[in-house]
Amino acid sequence: MSTFTSHQLQDGVVLPHVLNRAPPGTKMHVICLGYLAADAGWFFRGGNTSTMSDPTGPAKPERRDLVMYSVLIDHPTEGLILWETGSGKDYPQVWGAPLNDIFARTRYEPEHELDAAIAKAGYSIKDVKQVVIGHLHLDHSGGLNAFRNTGIPIWVHERELKSAFFSVATGADKGVYLARYLSVDELNWKTFDDRTIDFAQGITLHHLPGHTDGLVGMQVNLEKSGTFIFTSDHAHVLENYKPGVPQGWLARDHPAWFNSNQRLQRLEKTTGGTIVPGHDLSIAQPLFGKVFE
Ligand SMILES: [Zn+2]
Repeated sequence: MSTFTSHQLQDGVVLPHVLNRAPPGTKMHVICLGYLAADAGWFFRGGNTSTMSDPTGPAKPERRDLVMYSVLIDHPTEGLILWETGSGKDYPQVWGAPLNDIFARTRYEPEHELDAAIAKAGYSIKDVKQVVIGHLHLDHSGGLNAFRNTGIPIWVHERELKSAFFSVATGADKGVYLARYLSVDELNWKTFDDRTIDFAQGITLHHLPGHTDGLVGMQVNLEKSGTFIFTSDHAHVLENYKPGVPQGWLARDHPAWFNSNQRLQRLEKTTGGTIVPGHDLSIAQPLFGKVFE
């Protein structure tokens, strides 16, 4: 095993939290799946709100530019792993009104399609051996349709699968989960119910309930590039995570979310990792087009 970098030891890293390291030869890519914009009130509690002294609210309500991305891990023993899938093909039309107006696509290039983005990183979507899902909302899992009838395992926390199917079947949380990619018989669902699971060499998944009941984040410990923690939408943007501004209209179980946020902050400290929120343009964009080893 290689030695730990001196900065990790100096910065207070707790070694057991980074001992599960990806094997030499592992390559990680963060791939861009498109750009959106929406009212800040979706992402921050009290965003764009009115007050007594400002009863009409901000003259120009704040909007946020967001990005969608997936992570590809070319793993020597596991094969090609895909973390989340983006929204899938033709999503503005598939989502329909009013979703496609509230979460509006701001820029589109054919290279933002999942298969094209994987090809841009040097692989084929047919090379994907396993899919890991942070949560099953439409902008992270719409791309699952590409894996129908392939037999490829789709890994998701048991509580997320139950929430998503329950929501679609009953209308409990309408709009954020869609039936069109939650196939009961054409996807090879695989579940786990662990709070923390060493999913593969170098890859650990952490259950972070709150934004959804079964959301997980993915920690990847790389030999040269260090640790990355992909939070899915536990944090849409960095401010949710730190200083910890609660999510707005997309928040669900706030006490659970708060506890998950505390766990994540400890994990950042004990791993010295880089936190990558679900949609933060300023953090994800610089990662595109690079190879992390
Ligand atoms: Zn999202």
